[in-house]
Amino acid sequence: SASPRRTQDRSTERPHLPASDGPAPLSACSPDRSVSRRFRNEPDTDPSLPANRAWARRAITTPAPPAREPEITDPAAVDTVVERAAASSWGARPGPERAAVLRDAARALAAARGELLTVMVGEAGKTIAEADPEISEAIDFAAYYADRAEDLTGDAAQRSSTRRDGAPFTPDRVVVVTPPWNFPIAIPLGGCVAALAAGASVVIKPAPQVRACAEVGVAALHRGGIPADALQLVHTAEGSTDDTAGRRLVTHPAVDHVVLTGASETAALFRSWRPDLRLVAETSGKNALVITPSADPDLAVADLVRSAFGHAGQKCSAASLAILVGSMRSSRTAAGARFHRQLVDAVRTLRVGHGSDPSTTMGPLIGPPDAKLERALTRLDAGERWLVEPRQLGPTLWTPGVKEPVAPGSWFHLTECFGPVLGLLHAADLDEAIALQNATGYGLTGGLHALDPDEIEHWTERVEVGNAYVNRHITGAIVQRQSFGGWKGSVVGPGAKPGGPNYVAQFGTWHDGPLDA
Ligand code: GLU
Repeated sequence: SASPRRTQDRSTERPHLPASDGPAPLSACSPDRSVSRRFRNEPDTDPSLPANRAWARRAITTPAPPAREPEITDPAAVDTVVERAAASSWGARPGPERAAVLRDAARALAAARGELLTVMVGEAGKTIAEADPEISEAIDFAAYYADRAEDLTGDAAQRSSTRRDGAPFTPDRVVVVTPPWNFPIAIPLGGCVAALAAGASVVIKPAPQVRACAEVGVAALHRGGIPADALQLVHTAEGSTDDTAGRRLVTHPAVDHVVLTGASETAALFRSWRPDLRLVAETSGKNALVITPSADPDLAVADLVRSAFGHAGQKCSAASLAILVGSMRSSRTAAGARFHRQLVDAVRTLRVGHGSDPSTTMGPLIGPPDAKLERALTRLDAGERWLVEPRQLGPTLWTPGVKEPVAPGSWFHLTECFGPVLGLLHAADLDEAIALQNATGYGLTGGLHALDPDEIEHWTERVEVGNAYVNRHITGAIVQRQSFGGWKGSVVGPGAKPGGPNYVAQFGTWHDGPLDA
């Protein structure tokens, strides 16, 4: 067909978008309505077009707006917000009507791409290469879940989502979304539009590091037509047992579901507050990329560096381990020597800096390293040596590190550190590599670089991860194509994956028979 197909990294030509400030006119959107019932992924900005480069440069050098909303400390103020959300008429609208609003919201996000880029770079330091695809992902979530909203009513009378028509699906009243700071647009907005698609109202509590990002994103959704009572934003202090406003949000009786992307400890804290809590949570990961002697070393190095050091390793999906098989382990074999040399060169040439400098290829940490990351960046365990030693350039700026060999069962093998440190493990054969990969207790992402079809089949059948990638980087899941989520220690709750077909339908209750009218 003549229509352009997206490549795996979905770059394709996209016309230059103006950096918008103030309300985005929806008429500025493409008339061909690329966001439509037949879902197609939103393309990223194509940096090969000079106009796009000029646009991006403007966006990343524009000062980010500060967060405007005050922090709520009084639990009674939380009650007011939740009760207003519960009283919204959003859930009584038919699925196709909600879908139409969500598609408008997707278009409003697309029109706000410049503003969103500005605030992500300014507040989180993200590079364009990391921030721009995240905006595409948020647009994808809104458009893809719009289709799911229609599915809820599409199945004759079986799956209507209104509360009044005697159908077996009742949407949640209020869903609380508690996102992390590492994807300050895609994850917060993705949670909101999923619950809204089901017919629930949403209260979002952004991560404190990226409050302005959430405010700008939510404002765009409101401009797209999401009602103000159905989507409300509150800032509360970070979770702890005496965080009464945050605790009230999670325990309010009108809150039917909490969506959490964050630490397993936070999931446990929420459960301690409310044992019967319905929680949809994606928690931690300790992800590895296995590299066998049949791999293309150029591709393996490029994908490993991207997976380990994109956003300075601050992704649940990041590779923090590479497991080198057979002759790849040793610098004394030709293949192993070549791999090690190329990896060291590639890591040393990363340019560490702030995302507002377009030459930056690895951005800053979100804050000073916590104890785990500090240990990973500054200490070696028995037998390990630095292949590339990290250096601190500023309070949140660290150059990337690579350590080898990480011992099976050691601290670094099993601990998520969430930063720019990669550990190399050694395995005699593929089975040993798979055992090391599966031993972390987590099961989020994992990869294999191998060109031998038997190895690919062997690994694919045995690896215990939610997102398994072959001959590709292991971050950057794409809506519909690679719904994102794990198993084992990486998930709490039923485990339907964001960006996949079943995610929306979990924000409600399915009944055996018709409800009373
Ligand atoms: N969805 C992101 C990816 O595939 C990761 C999200 C996360 O780190 O929580 O890279």
